[in-house]
Amino acid sequence: MDPDPQAGVQVGMRVVRGVDWKWGQQDGGEGGVGTVVELGRHGSPSTPERTVVVQWDRGTRTNYRAGYQGAHDLLLYDNAQIGVRHPNIICDCCKKHGLRGMRWKCRVCFDYDLCTQCYMLDRHDLAHAFERYETAHSRPVTLSPRQGLPRIPLRGIFQGAKVVRGPDWEWGSQDGGEGKPGRVVDIRGWDVETGRSVASVTWADGTTNVYRVGHKGKVDLKCVGEAAGGFYYKEHLPRLGKPAELRRRVSADGQPFQHGDKVKCLLDTDILREMQEGHGGHSLRDPPQFLGKTGTVVKVFRDGNLRVVVGGQPWTFSPSCLVAYRPEEDANLDVAERARENKSAGARNRAPVGGGRRQTQGRREPFVGANIPP
Ligand SMILES: [Zn+2]
Ligand SMILES: [Zn+2]
Repeated sequence: MDPDPQAGVQVGMRVVRGVDWKWGQQDGGEGGVGTVVELGRHGSPSTPERTVVVQWDRGTRTNYRAGYQGAHDLLLYDNAQIGVRHPNIICDCCKKHGLRGMRWKCRVCFDYDLCTQCYMLDRHDLAHAFERYETAHSRPVTLSPRQGLPRIPLRGIFQGAKVVRGPDWEWGSQDGGEGKPGRVVDIRGWDVETGRSVASVTWADGTTNVYRVGHKGKVDLKCVGEAAGGFYYKEHLPRLGKPAELRRRVSADGQPFQHGDKVKCLLDTDILREMQEGHGGHSLRDPPQFLGKTGTVVKVFRDGNLRVVVGGQPWTFSPSCLVAYRPEEDANLDVAERARENKSAGARNRAPVGGGRRQTQGRREPFVGANIPP
């Protein structure tokens, strides 16, 4: 099982054109936003593995390379739609708790984080380099300072956009009939489950309802009058299809282990001996009994060292000597948590989001103007 289900490509992610783009204006021009609506499958003639189908806000729908033959046609702009969040992190600019989507952490200031919107809106010192965390579990990627880098304006289904019913529409005549326009009044998340994944739209008759723009990989709307959606630094967005590397779990204060964590010491005896001698400690003639065994963190010291009980005996370690025991435990908890949320959200659904299933297979293939295979 993939240890971090949110690190891979998923339907619902919001994307923009990327480094290997060669598909003209299918996105409506650079800065146009789309939604990943289908993932490539092994053996599929139209959508092979490492490709994705994107529904552009402007209405075009076709497939792109997300690692296919080493090419990356797309950049990940936002992953809040698939439920990515950083539970203990606050955006130090807009003050939102449990930051959603990618997290941007200043490498100069102590404990300073921004959300994607604030980062792209040039909040905080532009000369400070940041690191990007794609998910709560991914290893940070260090970026150059934003100062002087090109910034691309985003366009698409954002607040103020004029929209008509789109490809996944299944809400009868709420819009007043096919082709009748409405106005996006807000982009927001769906309960606690997903972020920036639905649009509130007011129709000609004055009624307002919410529609999926990324939620569960569905797109109920098509943009006929784009709205500005802020900006992005294309050099700072991850390539779609290049999953972020995982890291050890790190708490808000930067400590990789917490009280109660199960850990293992996997250091080689020679290194251990050197470390101990360096500390003026006793020499180790025999391999210590904790080597390779699982222990439990019982105390985190101020200097970052840890007291770990192994086989009933306490030892003090530098965190660099330890690895987490069964790191996949984390991912499983996540999945269980999400499953629970999905369940409870289902019971609370009061608007069209998450409605019934439809047969769309026939309409979707073949793609008009499919890019892949050539
Ligand atoms: Zn923010
Ligand atoms: Zn800073």
